[in-house]
Amino acid sequence: MTIDLSLRKHPDAKCEECPLLEDSVFVPSDGPEKADIVLVGEAPGLNEGRQGKPFVGASGKLLDRILSNSGIEREEVFITNVCLCRPKSNANPPTAAIKACSHRLKGEIGERQPSVIVALGNFAAHAVGSWGMLTDCLQEVFDSEKNDC
Ligand code: SF4
Repeated sequence: MTIDLSLRKHPDAKCEECPLLEDSVFVPSDGPEKADIVLVGEAPGLNEGRQGKPFVGASGKLLDRILSNSGIEREEVFITNVCLCRPKSNANPPTAAIKACSHRLKGEIGERQPSVIVALGNFAAHAVGSWGMLTDCLQEVFDSEKNDC
């Protein structure tokens, strides 16, 4: 079967199998090529879709404050989402979309070789926690909800 790459919003995602391919706003990950810390959220929200950048608006301000209080520059951190496209009406990302975007997410994290992955929310914790293969490049998987952050 020939895959039409023009159907993809990200070259490493299986967008042609994703229910968010059409009628959704694509927000790419943000951060350096190598990063000690990777933050993984669920999916872009309204403000992220408008600005084309993850974790902006109220959540971004809170994140910037937490990072700053920890002595970490936002520019040092790689920020991504389980799904790079914003589901309509801020709905939870469908399972098929999470699956379609998972190869891309694993690749982006693996390339950065982080020491810590911070999973922001249930979807991220589940996605990251279910990948045995990531343990090779991780020293710690930090579940933000279990740790009350
Ligand atoms: S969520 Fe991921 S897999 Fe789905 S269309 Fe967007 S980039 Fe492609």
